[in-house]
Amino acid sequence: MARVGFIGLGNMGGGMAANLAKKGHDVRAFDLSADALARAKAAGCLPLTSAAEAVDGAEAVITMLPAGAHVEQVYRESLGGAAPSTILIDCSTIDVTTARRVAQDAAARGIAAVDAPVSGGIAAAEAGTLTFMVGGSEEAFARAQPFLDDMGKNVIHAGGHGAGQAAKLCNNLILGATMIATCEAFVLAERLGLSPQTFYDIASTATAQSWSMTSYCPVPGVGPQSPADRDYQGGFAGALMLKDLNLAMTAAQDVDAEVPMGARARDLYQAFADAGQGGLDFSGIIRMLARKEEGTAG
Ligand code: NAD
Repeated sequence: MARVGFIGLGNMGGGMAANLAKKGHDVRAFDLSADALARAKAAGCLPLTSAAEAVDGAEAVITMLPAGAHVEQVYRESLGGAAPSTILIDCSTIDVTTARRVAQDAAARGIAAVDAPVSGGIAAAEAGTLTFMVGGSEEAFARAQPFLDDMGKNVIHAGGHGAGQAAKLCNNLILGATMIATCEAFVLAERLGLSPQTFYDIASTATAQSWSMTSYCPVPGVGPQSPADRDYQGGFAGALMLKDLNLAMTAAQDVDAEVPMGARARDLYQAFADAGQGGLDFSGIIRMLARKEEGTAG
């Protein structure tokens, strides 16, 4: 088992670090939040007072931070203590450009890095069932894989640096747009006299079938259990979907790609957040769309 530095012990990182400790790794943990550090300690990690201490002597350094600026800052402040034998694994969802830049900066110091963003939310982080999409060289991927295997059920090598982030952003562009299309179709079907259950029974086995419909139906009481059945609490926050769609729009601009559906989805999730609903699961946007059709909300 290895010494692992883990930086960023929030909603996702807390469960991931706990799983590494459960697997017997010596997890050296750091977060700016004292509460997060206390939870990590209770889960068997060694709490430390700086990122540099977490990196010192670590075989792998895993970061699970809010955005690219945080990853850049943590790397800048702590990589002095990393050795050529250290593998850097950034699991945060960040922009493709920063992911490539931090990996190149690390390579210039002789340190290998991968971007390894995740699919799956807080429950999957706790259960150790995340999917990791990994960008980096074959050799760096091979070094990162055993650690990712200990936190997830699928680990996929997507390509070179930034490819993991690219896969994540493109996946969530489809997810955001299909969720909105699924929501608006349910609202329209009901207004046209179809019960949600009847429409589900038809569409879920017809050409409209998608993960948003059959695994995560936005209508309460229809399909398997989903955040809709918990008043849209928990799950994947609309604010995080908005973050990912904004990253996808930036990436699209950088490579001059047309993303009209993604842009519309971004605007709608922006309106959802502006209406103070960004803390709800992203399928809760069905409420805003239902109100829009009534003409009572902007
Ligand atoms: P979070 O805000 O709960 O956790 C982030 C943690 O990073 C916090 O505990 C914060 O104190 C810590 N932090 C910030 N700056 C730091 C620094 N300089 N040094 C040390 N610690 C620092 O966020 P989260 O929900 O755990 O998400 C983490 C990442 O995972 C994000 O990039 C997010 O987009 C991605 N993600 C989240 C989900 C989800 O469902 N929450 C799903 C997939 C991907």
